[in-house]
Amino acid sequence: MRSTIKLGKISGIEIGLHYSWFIIAALIVFSLGQHFHLVNPNWSMWQVWITALVTAALFFITLLLHELAHSLVAQKRGLRISAITLFALGGVSQMQDDATDAKTEFWVAIAGPIASLIIGFGCWAIAAGLGWQHSTEPHTAVTEVLVWLGYINIGLGLFNMIPGFPLDGGRVLRSIIWGISKNADRSTRIAARVGQVVALLFILDGIWQFFHGAGFGGLWIAFIGWFLMDAAKASYAEVETASALRDLQVSDVMSRECVVVDRGMSLQEFVDVYLLTTGQRCFAVEDQGRLMGLITLRDVSNIPRDRWEQATVSEAMRPGKELRTVSPDSPVLDALKVMVRNDINQLPVVDHGSLQGIVSRSQILQLLQIRDELRLPTAYRPPPELSGRNELDVRSMSQMSARHSRV
Ligand SMILES: [Zn+2]
Repeated sequence: MRSTIKLGKISGIEIGLHYSWFIIAALIVFSLGQHFHLVNPNWSMWQVWITALVTAALFFITLLLHELAHSLVAQKRGLRISAITLFALGGVSQMQDDATDAKTEFWVAIAGPIASLIIGFGCWAIAAGLGWQHSTEPHTAVTEVLVWLGYINIGLGLFNMIPGFPLDGGRVLRSIIWGISKNADRSTRIAARVGQVVALLFILDGIWQFFHGAGFGGLWIAFIGWFLMDAAKASYAEVETASALRDLQVSDVMSRECVVVDRGMSLQEFVDVYLLTTGQRCFAVEDQGRLMGLITLRDVSNIPRDRWEQATVSEAMRPGKELRTVSPDSPVLDALKVMVRNDINQLPVVDHGSLQGIVSRSQILQLLQIRDELRLPTAYRPPPELSGRNELDVRSMSQMSARHSRV
């Protein structure tokens, strides 16, 4: 989730608002206004709307406290948190690392609901201290706000404890299964499946309520269910991917089919001879066996077309020192993480300064697809003496096609 408005930092954690939050904030203020007007018909319009605005702002702060509880516990247990983003359906804490043990996962997950419950009951206790009772006598604005915040935070705490991944309760469930079975992948699979069932129940309940007169409220429940379904499916797929890639190294999947181009060549020649004939999107620029940089389709399209005759490959390429690289023996998962984090599609594979190949997102995806279509068990690995066999054939093929098109 990007495109956020940054609000500042707490304990090194960037706090941001996603635009979708404003839609929900407006809805909350509007429904609060209606609620206050209905419960306290003697209030003036000003009093109603100012109370609604203040309540919504306080609700926003309690939501933030819920996320902060997750994040601060995570930090305490040695995990890095980069940001908290509030969006239409609540908040997300962006963790740099995943919990490495079941205990950490448990405490990080349960900290949020505990915070919400404490805040909720705290609000009720203060309201009771101020003389609030379950009666129809008119309440002050302060007790009205506290009572509403109490309900919403207790509701939030309980809702989040529903044991469906990726809700907090799902994470708690996952950590418990993980603690018992000592198998992180399996526990995520189970928690994600339970999450899908919970999500389906939400959708069905929402639809049922919609047709029984709940209107918008029913649709809202169904929408939350749909969102949960998506998130649960995504977590399931993530585990599948991770376990399929776990023991693979970059050298197992990288393509050695990397055509090397001359740095002094004009872009026009590069486009005509290489880009348009090989169908590849990424080329290495080498100088005496050392990688100088990488030139991709994207780099070429950054240069205006009328400059292609004059500009050289080395002007358009991304120079080696700006490139992120991986070594052939690093895990595929790490390479994938680097690509996702930096929003790039390929990484040069470099061993002691010399280019060994290119690993790309699409390659990794294709590999996963092939494994899936062959219905290979996730633990299957080709015999080690066979990996790297494709090297010679592919390289000579690509050199052939390059030489061919030069003629
Ligand atoms: Zn939470």
